[in-house]
Amino acid sequence: MVIPGEAPFFSHTITDRAGTHERPSRILLVDDDAPLRRTLPHVLAQPGRRFEECGTVADAIARLEHNRYDLILLDYRLPDGTGLDVLDWLANAGRPEAVVMISGEDAIDAAIGALRRGADDYVRKPYHVAQLQRAVQNVLHKALLEQANGVMSQRLKSSERLHRYLVESSPDFIFTLNPSGVFNYVNPRVEAMLGYTREQLLGKAFTTLLLDDDAIRVDVLLREAARGKRIHQVLELRLRRCDPNTGQPGASTVTVTLNAVPIHGRGGDDNNAAPAGIYGVARDISERKRAEEIITFQAYHDQLTHLPNRILFKDRLELAIAQAQRRGGLLAVMFIDVDRFKRVNDTYGHSEGDRLLRVLAARLKETLRKGDTLARLGGDEFTVLLPDIAHPEDAETIAQKIHAALAAPFQLEHGDFHVTASIGIAVFPRDGDVAEQLTQHADIAMYQIKREGKNGFRFFDPDLNAHYRERIGLENDLRSALQRNEFSLCYQPQISMATGRLVGLEALLRWQHPTHGQIGPTAFIQVAEEVGLIREISHWVVDTATAQLADWHARGHAALRMSINLSSQDFDRDDTIDRVADCVARYGLAQDRFEVEITERVMMRDTADVIARIRRLRECGVGISIDDFGTGYSALAYLQKFPVSSLKIDRSFVNNLNGQGTQPIISAITGIARGFGLHLVAEGVERPEQARHLKDMGCDTMQGYLFSRPISADDVNRWLDAPPLPPGALSITPPPQQA
Ligand code: C2E
Ligand code: MG
Ligand code: MG
Repeated sequence: MVIPGEAPFFSHTITDRAGTHERPSRILLVDDDAPLRRTLPHVLAQPGRRFEECGTVADAIARLEHNRYDLILLDYRLPDGTGLDVLDWLANAGRPEAVVMISGEDAIDAAIGALRRGADDYVRKPYHVAQLQRAVQNVLHKALLEQANGVMSQRLKSSERLHRYLVESSPDFIFTLNPSGVFNYVNPRVEAMLGYTREQLLGKAFTTLLLDDDAIRVDVLLREAARGKRIHQVLELRLRRCDPNTGQPGASTVTVTLNAVPIHGRGGDDNNAAPAGIYGVARDISERKRAEEIITFQAYHDQLTHLPNRILFKDRLELAIAQAQRRGGLLAVMFIDVDRFKRVNDTYGHSEGDRLLRVLAARLKETLRKGDTLARLGGDEFTVLLPDIAHPEDAETIAQKIHAALAAPFQLEHGDFHVTASIGIAVFPRDGDVAEQLTQHADIAMYQIKREGKNGFRFFDPDLNAHYRERIGLENDLRSALQRNEFSLCYQPQISMATGRLVGLEALLRWQHPTHGQIGPTAFIQVAEEVGLIREISHWVVDTATAQLADWHARGHAALRMSINLSSQDFDRDDTIDRVADCVARYGLAQDRFEVEITERVMMRDTADVIARIRRLRECGVGISIDDFGTGYSALAYLQKFPVSSLKIDRSFVNNLNGQGTQPIISAITGIARGFGLHLVAEGVERPEQARHLKDMGCDTMQGYLFSRPISADDVNRWLDAPPLPPGALSITPPPQQA
């Protein structure tokens, strides 16, 4: 670094003091006495000394103009002037040459005049040789010292300038305090950093810049420093900026790190000596602080809603538990799950889903008090911490408030969207005394609400716990079941009463669980729907069933029908419908041979999309059968709206055939089927008299344990190869082994 206007610090060479005597010196003898001029070099000879001589003022000046000398021995009287003229010339030229005046003048005035005009010594003629030698020796030595001194002070000057430059242009606020803590130096940086002029701070106590919170810590640091202790600790604190209106320290602050070091006087670093003051460096770290704050915020908050995340929630919950434990108080944890949120994402896209979550978070927050924490755990799951409640019922009140807050529809780009939420509540200490346990129990309670039909709240019930654990295990196993090829289809025969032949099959799903053995669909279909696995499962069912049916057709049973069951979720999207259409086309399945059973739940969701999808299936030649017909709110209007081809009389009617009012229902259903030209199947036929009754009422196709349980494809093959049941022989056990 080069200081502006200054030669580089390092260019000065240092003269070794020890070399004084050997150092070469160039000496000019000016005297009009030629013999004397020739004698003197001998008299004054020393190693390293070189002599030149001349006899007039003009000569002397001529030489001086081109040469530098260490010493001039100057005669007073010269032919063209006096030695004083040479002294004047030297003074005017600012020359550093040392001069010893040699003169025969007696008057003391001459000596004084010469010394005043810059001569370093005066020797009067006649002199002793030793006297002159001493004078020369002294002057040369003095000149040498001066020269060394000059170099030294030049170095000091440069060094001082360097340090001043470094301090003044430092990006840090650098200052010194006197031992009482009052500013006696501040660098210009303070103006930009804190808004004070240097003059405003000089004479003021450092502590005026501090907030009360920091004052004590800084006071300790400064006291230590003032006692001469070297402190290695760096304090982080805030310095008050200048209030532009008052010129005094204001409320706005800058965060800095402060380093304070005692300034020692002559004693250097002597720790025992009282210091002359304190040297301080304050570094502005507000940018770094801000960056740290952002990083910390991101680590503890959810990016989308800016609510606390799981980590921060757990932290606060743990703290609240500790406090409640001390007080002997209560607290509540709520687990909130938005019902059917997935549908928003699936239907309108993720950006709409995100928008909904943001607005929702804001609404939820409004229902809470200041000390409560609302956190987003991810997806559509939120948790609430009510750190201080008087009774568990207080949590209930909040849950009601949340439901009320969600009552008004949310405006999405595609229109209004109604949101409901399921809320589970766990109360400390009743439902747990550890953060994780409380959250999990609130989650279990929430899950129970979901099962009960969503949109509500409930407190944790220990009895739910075991069930929940089972379900978690089921969920995990279900996720890998497809990959592990654990699903299979079995087929339940449908028999025509008129011919005694097997005319149709219902494909029913089975799960061969690695440890629990075979599991029926009622135990896992709903879970698969809830965790979003049903699509893949349905695709597998469609693929397997159509391939199997095509095989049976190819073996010569071309009239055989087969139905599969689809979930109502399969009608939310196009892909399962596409899959059915593709397979039916690929295997060239004839009209109405392949059928899809849907429940009344699907029909009740008679949105344009669902109707369109069912119509599409029908247009591909796929039969549409209404499963469990009569159990839901079957409205005749549906039968007009939907292109239905079959009805299945629910098992409950068949089972209750002799019960009150059942017979008319079955008659009505058979009537409807006939009226609409629909194929009719009775399911759950277990006893011969049921079959007979149904037959009498006009129902021909039957399915039930009376004929066969659901069986494997191989067993179906055996059945197909066997002769038909004799007409009327309803109780006869069918030929193949039963599954
Ligand atoms: P569902 O469609 O009503 O099927 C009839 C159910 O009744 C079957 O139970 C069958 O084994 C049983 N069943 C048949 N005959 C009798 C009988 O005489 N007495 C009694 N008590 N029961 C009889 P499963 O196989 O356990 O299936 C239960 C339900 O699971 C089915 O009811 C259907 O809604 C659903 N399901 C089955 N397979 C699938 C599938 O592949 N996908 C979907 N989404 N759902 C399926
Ligand atoms: Mg069915
Ligand atoms: Mg059924």
